[in-house]
Amino acid sequence: MMVATDYPVLQLFLVGRWQAAAGRVTTALHDPASGMLIGHLPHATADDLDQALNGAESAFKSWRQTSAMERGNLLKRAAQLLRERLPTLAANLTLEQGKPLTEARIEIAAAADIFEWFAEEGRRAYGRIIPARSVDIRYQVLREPVGPVAAFAPWNFPAVIPARKIAAALASGCTCIIKPAEETPATCLALAQALSDAGLPAGVLSVVTGDPSFISDYLLRSNVIRKISFTGSTAVGRQLGSLAAQQLQRSTLELGGHAPVLVFEDADLDRAAAICVENKFRNAGQVCISPTRFYVHERVHDAFVQRFVERTAALKVGHGLQPGTQMGPLANSRRPHALKGLIKDALDRGAELHCGAQDIGREGHFFRPTLLARVPAESRVMQEEPFGPLALTSTFSHLEEALELANRLPFGLAAYGFTESIKTAHTLSNEVECGMLGINNMQINFAETPFGGVKHSGFGSEGGSEGLDGYLSTKLVSLS
Ligand code: NAD
Repeated sequence: MMVATDYPVLQLFLVGRWQAAAGRVTTALHDPASGMLIGHLPHATADDLDQALNGAESAFKSWRQTSAMERGNLLKRAAQLLRERLPTLAANLTLEQGKPLTEARIEIAAAADIFEWFAEEGRRAYGRIIPARSVDIRYQVLREPVGPVAAFAPWNFPAVIPARKIAAALASGCTCIIKPAEETPATCLALAQALSDAGLPAGVLSVVTGDPSFISDYLLRSNVIRKISFTGSTAVGRQLGSLAAQQLQRSTLELGGHAPVLVFEDADLDRAAAICVENKFRNAGQVCISPTRFYVHERVHDAFVQRFVERTAALKVGHGLQPGTQMGPLANSRRPHALKGLIKDALDRGAELHCGAQDIGREGHFFRPTLLARVPAESRVMQEEPFGPLALTSTFSHLEEALELANRLPFGLAAYGFTESIKTAHTLSNEVECGMLGINNMQINFAETPFGGVKHSGFGSEGGSEGLDGYLSTKLVSLS
């Protein structure tokens, strides 16, 4: 039997008040697994955005004066509320996004962890004293909040990604206006509810939903916003980054990836295949750090593929609220359409289909876990992020070739390697162009670890102690 849900009526959260859709344009929201109507997304108007901007501007004056400890205590209370509400929030997350309930539960718990991490880390946003050239002078370096932040979150991690942006902003003393993805508003609104219930002053956080380009354009052209944080595709990141540059707003951009996995001849193949399958099909592959291009040493390629296919074939695909489901549907209709085009192109160019590829004949945006082997480098899918349950293999014969293949794309988010050789591991650490590297594991994403990319995967770090940097500016005070 499916787990029951209690999906809320969608509203805007503006300057501490909940605003119903009344009178605003709305769009229908559907469960991606069944196609069932689950709600109506209100579209923020210019007037709503003005309210949010005014609220963020005026609340910034007092919020920045609040002690880091007080801000941290509030975030910790909100974290506690998220944990208490976890069963309901996780079920609603699954309903709007599709991922299996076990993954949704882990995600809500991770969002609570992130609130707590930044609550603590805000208390360690230390400045420093620089020895001056004169004994009469003291140079103080102060770290100050940059100001009101506009944040834009995607649909693949509706709790964790907004949590990173909101918690880092609030812990630093910034105020924040966030736009969750159109597909997954309820989870972000639940974060706002927890913060509001924990005592967040009005205006420190507003949540606006609706037309993404209207909202981002309006907010970024305002003089109030001092920083933007965006997670999503490289194309949209480039667009928002250009807008932010016009206003000289600081930006953190977490964009696409196309993670390579280098499997060396000396790797433990059973272990590598188990880890790769688990991570490839997590959230149906809709993960920016999802392992995708598997470059396998030519002598172990077929053995690796065989292990990968055996494990993939055993995955249970279904509604995320159905107990036992290991992979849910894709989050929207754009993904299956994009995947079919990429797979056809690769097969036309000579790739081998080992499993998957067909539609699952049922309601919703389901797609079978798929492996294409020996995919030619010129295939579109070897350049474009598939962002779905699609694994690709190719071969290499020596380390230099493996590194060249790993670094051949303009992306540089996550990368992985499997080897028993410490020498090879060191070379990977030094030579792979990426923001996060997992060697013999894929555990690279926690509250306490920095998360971000290089090259066209963006810039800025969202986790770890580095996560506060984007929200703080540096002021020198020369005091005599
Ligand atoms: P998309 O680029 O249309 O949208 C991605 C996200 O950006 C959505 O949540 C959307 O609300 C938001 N967005 C789009 N236009 C915007 C604008 N003008 N202003 C503000 N926000 C805007 O892509 P999509 O079809 O939803 O997803 C496909 C691609 O997006 C994937 O192939 C992947 O590369 C990328 N993506 C990356 C991540 C990530 O975690 N880095 C997450 C989701 C999607």
